[in-house]
Amino acid sequence: MTLDTDWFSEPLASEGVAFSLRVTSKLHEERTPWQYIEVYETAHWGRLLVIDGCVMLTGRDNFLYHEMMAHPALATHPAPRDVLVIGGGDCGTLREVLRHESVTRAVQVDIDEAVTRAAERFFPELTAGNDDPRVTLRFEDGVAYLRQAPAASFDVVIIDSTDPVGHAAGLFGAPFLSDVRRVLRSPGVLVQQSESPLLHAESVIRPLHGALAEAGFAARATLHFPVPSYPSGWWSATLGLLGLEPEAYRTVTLPELRYYSAAMHQAALTPPAFCGTLFRPD
Ligand code: SAM
Repeated sequence: MTLDTDWFSEPLASEGVAFSLRVTSKLHEERTPWQYIEVYETAHWGRLLVIDGCVMLTGRDNFLYHEMMAHPALATHPAPRDVLVIGGGDCGTLREVLRHESVTRAVQVDIDEAVTRAAERFFPELTAGNDDPRVTLRFEDGVAYLRQAPAASFDVVIIDSTDPVGHAAGLFGAPFLSDVRRVLRSPGVLVQQSESPLLHAESVIRPLHGALAEAGFAARATLHFPVPSYPSGWWSATLGLLGLEPEAYRTVTLPELRYYSAAMHQAALTPPAFCGTLFRPD
C-alpha cells in the first residue's frame, strides 16, 4: 500500500494537539462492520495498530498500558481465578492476565473479530497465549454478553475498550457497570481504562466514578501511568471494588514485567494534587 506521507498523525482538534509517528509502510487496512483498522510499520516505535484514526498500541510502549490494565486489578484480588476481559481484541491485556498462575479461566469478549485476527498476524507477541486452554475468545458486543452472563461468575472484570464513543459508549455507563457488578463475586475487582487524567478528568473520569458509585462500587480508585502514544502521553484506569479496599493489594512479582511492581502500584494509586479526591473518593 502506498503512503501519502511518511508520518501517521492522530490530531486531537479540541485540544489543539497531535501525536505523530514516522511510518515506513502500511501493512494492513480493513473496514469492518464496526470500525476501520490500520496497521503500520514505524521507523522507531515498532508496529502501530490504529482503529478509527486513534492509536491503539505501538510495539514500543504497549507494555505500559497492558501491564497496568492487568496487574493492579489482579494484585488487588486475593485469589483471582475467573477473569473476564471486555474489548481488548489485540490480546495484550489477556497476555498479562495469563501470567498469573491463579487464573484458571480467562474469557475475552470483543465486538470485532478482525482486531484479534490482525493482532495474530501483525502482533504475534501479544497473541501467543491465545491457545492456552484457560482462554475462551468470544466475538460479540460486551454489553449484550454481560446482560446474559450468570451472576457471580467472575473474580475480575477488565474493560479494555476503545474511547467512549460509538459502540464503546455503552461500556462506560451505570447500566453496563451494574451488569459487571452482577457478574462479579465478592470479593471482586473491576478495572476500566479511563482515558487521560490531563484531558479527560471531567469528561470521562468523574462521570465514571459517578456511574461506578451508582452501580454499587463503594470503593474506587483511579490509577495513572504513562502511555506516550496516547493523547497527552498520560493515561488512567479506574478500579471498582467489591469487598476490598484499594490499598489492600498483594505484592505480585512475575518474570519479564517491564513496568509494573508493587512500588509502581503504590505510585499509580497516589493521586496527583490536582486530581485529589476525584481519583480517591472517601
Ligand atoms: N486500550 C486501547 C486504547 O484505549 O486505545 C484499546 C484496546 S482494544 C484494541 C479496544 C477494543 O475494544 C477494540 O478491539 C474494539 O473492537 C473493542 N470494543 C469496542 N466496543 C466494544 C463493545 N461494545 N463490546 C466489546 N468490545 C468492544
